Amino acid sequence: MDSYQKLRPWTDIERCNCENVHGLFLIDLLTSNPINCSNCRCEVDPEQLELTSDETEKIARWYSAESALYKLWLDSGEYETYAKTCLIDPLGQVNIDGRAIAKELSKRIPTQLWLFHDTDDGEPENCPICNEPLNLDVKWGTGECRECYIHI
Ligand SMILES: [Zn+2]
Ligand SMILES: [Zn+2]
Repeated sequence: MDSYQKLRPWTDIERCNCENVHGLFLIDLLTSNPINCSNCRCEVDPEQLELTSDETEKIARWYSAESALYKLWLDSGEYETYAKTCLIDPLGQVNIDGRAIAKELSKRIPTQLWLFHDTDDGEPENCPICNEPLNLDVKWGTGECRECYIHI
């Protein structure tokens, strides 16, 4: 990754201004809130979505583990490989927990976990969870698998 990329998220924090939020991504953009609108990819306040405190709590717990790993990976030091192994493992805890939250929230509003992907590894074509081809007709990122509640 280039050095611009590392600073970009901090200067890029914006709130969603869409009239209605029709979908969500759980995504680590190095902000304090991983809940983002699937249309504009800006942050959505959990209160605006009327998430319960239990749901918000679960998201915060998942995000603190995920963002710790993500930062270790960005740091490119001794823990980089370890962090990446955890982040790309479809059956790793961050991905299991993240998908469970996405599935739960999807009962009310379609939610996808934005999976970690290292651009050095090329473009993914298949869902890392179920191995079916990704739906590439997406506005953001590379593709999605609705069955698995993931975006990549
Ligand atoms: Zn929006
Ligand atoms: Zn899938």
